[in-house]
Amino acid sequence: MFPARIQEYVRPRTVAEALAAIARHDEGEAIFLAGGQSAMQAIKSRMLRPQCVVDLQGVAELKGVSANNGALTIGAMTRYVEIAAHAGLGNAFAALRDAASHVGDRQVRNRGTIGGSVCWNYVAACTPTAVLALGGTMNLAADGGSRSVAADDFFLGPLETARQDNEILLSVSWPAPPPRTGSAYKKWGLVTDALPVVGVAVMVTLDAAGHCSAARIALAGLANGAQRANLGEAKLVGSRGDIATIDAAMQAIADAADAHSDMSADADYRKQLIRSLGREVAERAFDRARA
Ligand SMILES: Cc1cc2nc3c(=O)[nH]c(=O)nc-3n(C[C@H](O)[C@H](O)[C@H](O)COP(=O)(O)OP(=O)(O)OC[C@H]3O[C@@H](n4cnc5c(N)ncnc54)[C@H](O)[C@@H]3O)c2cc1C
Repeated sequence: MFPARIQEYVRPRTVAEALAAIARHDEGEAIFLAGGQSAMQAIKSRMLRPQCVVDLQGVAELKGVSANNGALTIGAMTRYVEIAAHAGLGNAFAALRDAASHVGDRQVRNRGTIGGSVCWNYVAACTPTAVLALGGTMNLAADGGSRSVAADDFFLGPLETARQDNEILLSVSWPAPPPRTGSAYKKWGLVTDALPVVGVAVMVTLDAAGHCSAARIALAGLANGAQRANLGEAKLVGSRGDIATIDAAMQAIADAADAHSDMSADADYRKQLIRSLGREVAERAFDRARA
């Protein structure tokens, strides 16, 4: 299908110019374009009919990874390929590297951005799930000021976030994690270079004696998209990450999951994926926390 007519294409050099371009239009009439890997398909299918496209490719201040004393900030326009290759992402942030390394195919990873992925928040997207498990903060700006939103409050449901139409995502950031923190992400899909049927991200922190003092688990591919799995988290806390505890945690998550059936998989299969992927991912996160 041909896209609906786009009246205006803007290529700002700065965030201020990008915000000014959005502010010139009524709500929803102008959209930001990042890697275009989701937005262009939506425009072609007329799911999105913007009058104006504000292409962020030329905005240098939105690009790059900054890892300082353990804290991490990733600019919204940072591409998957750059995140996957970044040496500053240690064991605590390894789930981001896992997710970015396996998004789509090489072309998608060369164009797609962390900002585009979290703002689109597709039901089975990898990056929002890893960002949620790692407890990231979304840093947003609008004409009238800026604000930060925790991942727990940002991802509202499939294709829905707390971002307002006139807000630009500047970056996703994290303070330095506690020592002995490890994380991991893995997806399973019908084909390896496409969106997952189910994805699981786990982050754990261990105390000096090796007991889990904090855990966050997030899932992709269920009816409500990127979501926390608090039941499983509670079961991991206090444990040493033994297989019996991990299996019990994943079983609890699978039992409570709002898994749906569709052309890719039925609900029971999705629950099985939570158990099998979940075990592998949690074991890897514990191993990384111990390393
Ligand atoms: C073949 C294929 C396979 C794929 N496989 C996977 C996969 O395995 N896992 C996975 O997670 N994803 C997958 N994707 C989706 C991919 O990750 C997209 O790149 C991502 O969803 C959107 O990122 P983008 O940079 O292309 O954003 P765009 O498509 O340009 O934008 C997406 C949305 O975000 C908004 N936006 C973008 N940047 C900003 C910003 N800075 N501030 C405010 N709003 C912004 C746009 O207005 C738009 O609404 C796949 C896509 C394709 C085409």
